[in-house]
Amino acid sequence: MERTLSIVKPDGVRKNIVGEVIGRFEKSGLKVVALKMASLTRKEAEGFYAVHCKRPFFGSLTEFMSSGPVVLMAIEGAGAIKKVRDIMGATDPKNAAPGTIRKDFADSIESNVVHGSDAPETAAFEIGYFFNALEIRC
Ligand code: ATP
Ligand code: MG
Repeated sequence: MERTLSIVKPDGVRKNIVGEVIGRFEKSGLKVVALKMASLTRKEAEGFYAVHCKRPFFGSLTEFMSSGPVVLMAIEGAGAIKKVRDIMGATDPKNAAPGTIRKDFADSIESNVVHGSDAPETAAFEIGYFFNALEIRC
């Protein structure tokens, strides 16, 4: 069993596809074990994406991530990290495979609808960034 953090980003919430994203995860056999809506401050977005702080797109990315409400969720299942990223598709929707969330809904490499942790260590950091133990079902 593995856990990962996923986010429906502000563009996904604006497009009204929160249920669509969660439904795709659930249909693949993954389970939502924690869920909430939040509006990230610029500082919270910067802390979350701190690994990218030296990248040229950091300012724009953190502005985008704090531009409206997001839906935060912890997802559980066998191979959850890779499964979620496979369902999401490539970062740039131009390179995303058919049938992935980003191919179907994303507008650009930045406004790409959804986030998923990329490794067990980042998943642990990211779940802990947004949820405490009381908020996660067993
Ligand atoms: P995420 O971490 O959001 O799940 P990812 O792992 O596919 O996406 P990362 O390389 O971690 O991609 O980049 C984090 C986010 O930063 C991307 O999802 C995207 O929103 C934004 N981003 C990445 N590369 C660029 C770029 N070249 N220009 C603008 N924004 C970018
Ligand atoms: Mg990433």
